[in-house]
Amino acid sequence: MSELNNTNVDIEEIFASKVFTLDKMKDRLPESVYEEVLRVNREGGELSYASAEAVANAMKEWAVENGATHYTHWFQPLTGITAEKHDSFVTHPKSDGKMLLNFSAKELIKGEPDASSFPSGGLRSTFEARGYTVWDTTSPAFIKEASTGPILCIPTAFCSYTGEALDKKTPLLRSLEAINEQALRIVHLFGNTEAKKVSVSVGAEQEYFLIDRENYLERDDLVFTGRTLFGAQPPKGQEMDDHYFGVIREREGAFMNDLNVELWKLGVTAKTQHNEVAPAQHELAPIYEEANIATDHNQLVMETMKRVAFEHGLTCLLHEKPFAGVNGSGKHNNWSLVTDNGVNLLDPGSTPNENIQFLMVLSCIIKAVDTHADLLRQSASDVGNDHRLGAAEAPPAIMSIFLGEQLDDVVRQLVETGAASRSIDGGVLQTGVSTLIDVEKDGTDRNRTSPFAFTGNKFEFRSVGSSDSIASPNTILNAIVAEAFCEAADILEKAPNFDDAVHDLIKEYLAKHQRIIFNGDGYSEEWVAEAQRRGLPNLKTMVDAVDTLTTPKAIRLFEKFGIYTKAELESREEILYESYAKTINIEALTMIDMVSRKFLPAGISYSKQLADTINAIENAGLEPTVQSDILEKVQKKLSEMYKALGALKEAEHKANKITDAKERAFCYRDVVRSAMDDLRRPTDELEMLVDRAVWPVPTYGDMLFEV
Ligand code: ADP
Ligand code: MG
Repeated sequence: MSELNNTNVDIEEIFASKVFTLDKMKDRLPESVYEEVLRVNREGGELSYASAEAVANAMKEWAVENGATHYTHWFQPLTGITAEKHDSFVTHPKSDGKMLLNFSAKELIKGEPDASSFPSGGLRSTFEARGYTVWDTTSPAFIKEASTGPILCIPTAFCSYTGEALDKKTPLLRSLEAINEQALRIVHLFGNTEAKKVSVSVGAEQEYFLIDRENYLERDDLVFTGRTLFGAQPPKGQEMDDHYFGVIREREGAFMNDLNVELWKLGVTAKTQHNEVAPAQHELAPIYEEANIATDHNQLVMETMKRVAFEHGLTCLLHEKPFAGVNGSGKHNNWSLVTDNGVNLLDPGSTPNENIQFLMVLSCIIKAVDTHADLLRQSASDVGNDHRLGAAEAPPAIMSIFLGEQLDDVVRQLVETGAASRSIDGGVLQTGVSTLIDVEKDGTDRNRTSPFAFTGNKFEFRSVGSSDSIASPNTILNAIVAEAFCEAADILEKAPNFDDAVHDLIKEYLAKHQRIIFNGDGYSEEWVAEAQRRGLPNLKTMVDAVDTLTTPKAIRLFEKFGIYTKAELESREEILYESYAKTINIEALTMIDMVSRKFLPAGISYSKQLADTINAIENAGLEPTVQSDILEKVQKKLSEMYKALGALKEAEHKANKITDAKERAFCYRDVVRSAMDDLRRPTDELEMLVDRAVWPVPTYGDMLFEV
C-alpha cells in the first residue's frame, strides 16, 4: 500500500543520505572553508560571511541534486511543533529568459517569517511583528520528504527583533553553553585539564499509538483534539499483559520497517522497536546523541511517524492519553554528560565509592533536583500529560530521584560517616539452570515508578509527555545542574585543601538534599503522604506548575546563566496558561458538537426503533417487557446527557469570558473539565445500551484491536 519502497535497503549506504553531513561538505567545499566549518562545529563561534556563502552554494547544489526545489528555515516556535515557510531557489530570470537557481549566505543565515502569528506571550505586539530565524550551525541541514516534494531544511533558532527567544531551541542552546562552562570547571578541578568541552548526551525513547486511518477520520475527537473524549471500555484492555514485547503484527511491522528506513536516511539512529503495554501502543528508541541534535531528531521522529503512518493507511497518535482505561504514552529522556576526551561524568565505574569526581557530580545533581524540583516538574508538563502523571501508569507529579541499591548504600555511608568504604557488587545472576551462561548483574535493579532514575551511567527523566518537545526538559536539567556545578566550583576553586573541601561538600550536599532520594514505589498512596512530610512539591496539574517559572529562585537561576530573561519567563507563563485554556476549550466544544449532532441523535433514533417495536409487540397481544426496560434506560441516559450538555455549554461560556489568562486556565481546569467528565459518563453508558449498528463512531474495540 505504501508508496515508500524500503525493502532490502543497505543501511550503511542510506544512512544520513538526506543529511548535509560534514562528509558531504568536505567533498564539496574548498579545504579552507571546510576547516573553518569544522572549527566552528567543534569550538563554537561564527562562520565568516564568505565561508557561509560557499556553504550555502554547496548546500543548494546538493539539495537540487536530490530533487529539492525549495528550502526552509525549520524552527520550533512555542506551539510545541515545528514550523516552516518554503522558499524556492528561483531568482530573477536573466535577459535571455534563462533561470539560474540561487541560495545566498544571507538566505542561509537569516530568515524573517512574519512572526506575529506565533505565540509570543506579550513579548511582541502585532505592529512590531519582526522575528528572525537564525541558522543553527551545530545541527546539520537535511532534506525532508514533504507533501510538496523534497525540501531542504535548515535548523534555526527563532528570536524577536529585540533578541528575545520565541522558540524552544534558543534557551536550549543557551543552557548547553552554561552547563558546558560550569561542568568544565568541575572536570578541570579534578585534574582533567585536557578537556575543552562538556556536552550533554540525550536519548529520547518515544511511545506512540497506531490506529487505522479510516477509524481515525470518523472520530471528530481524535481529529480535533488527538484523544478520544468518549468511548466505553472494550471487554479486553491491557490486563493480560500480552501486548508488551508481543509479536509485532503485519501492518505494524511494515510501518516500522518504513519508519526506520526514513529515519536512517535523515541520520536518526533508530535502534529499538517494540510493542508497549497498551494494545496498539509501541515504542521507538534511537541511540543517544548530542542534546541539541537529539532534540531536533525527536521532532523529526514524531513528524516521520505521522507521515509514514499516513502512507500505510494508519494514523499515529502522539497524544499522552488517546484512550481512557489503558496506558498513555510518554517519552523517556535519558541524559548524561560527556567530555570531549571521552569521560562520561555519570559513569560510576565498578566501585562508585572510590570515584570521587562521580560522587561530586552526583551530589550536585541531587542538590539541583531537590532545589528545583518544581521547575523540573514544570518542564514535563503539558495538557495531555495531566492524564498520566500520578495516575499509576507514569511517574507521579512529585519529583524524586531513584538511585538504586548500590548508590543508595554509598550515599548512606557518606551521610552517616563522611566516608564510603565499600560498594555493593552486582554479583552473578543465578538462574538455577546449569546450561545457561552466568551473567553479571547490574549494581542495581530498575524502578519503573520513579520520575528521575539513575540507570547505570545516565539519568532517565521519565515524566516527559509523548507529544512534547524534549527541549524544555533538557533546558531545565542543564540549567539547574549548571547552577549546582557553579556553586560547587566557586567553593572548590578557593579551597586551601581540595581533597578535604570535596569531601566536606559531598557530605554537606547529600545530607542536606537526601530527602529527594526515594527508592520505593512511586505509585503508592504512602509516597504521596511521605513526600508531603518531606516537604517535596506535589504540583498535580500543568496549571499548578506554571508559576514555578517566575519564582525569585527561578528568575535568579535563569538570569545568572543567561538562559531566560524575566520578560521571556513571563511571556512563557502567559503562553502556557493560554494554551491550556485553548486546548480544553477545543475539547469542550468537540464534546458539545459530538453529543449534539451524533450521540443524542443516535440515542433518539434507537429510542424510536424501540418504541416502534414495543407498539408492534403490543399489537400482537404480547408484553414487550425487555424492550420497555431498555427504552426506559436509554431515555434515562438521554436525559442525563442532555442535562450535562447544557451544563458543559454553560461552563465553557463562563470560562471563555474570563480575561485574565491564569484565572481562565484555572476555570477550565476546575469547572470545564469536571463538566466534561459529567457528559462523558452517561454517553459511554448509552454506548453500552444501544445497538452497535446505530453507534455513530468506531468503538474502543475497533480502534485498539483492529490494526
Ligand atoms: P531502556 O531504558 O528501555 O532499558 P536503554 O537503557 O538501553 O533502554 O536506553 C534507552 C535510551 O538511553 C537509548 O536511547 C539509549 O541510547 C540512551 N542512552 C544510553 N546510554 C546513554 C547515555 N550515557 N547518555 C544518554 N543516553 C543514553
Ligand atoms: Mg528506558
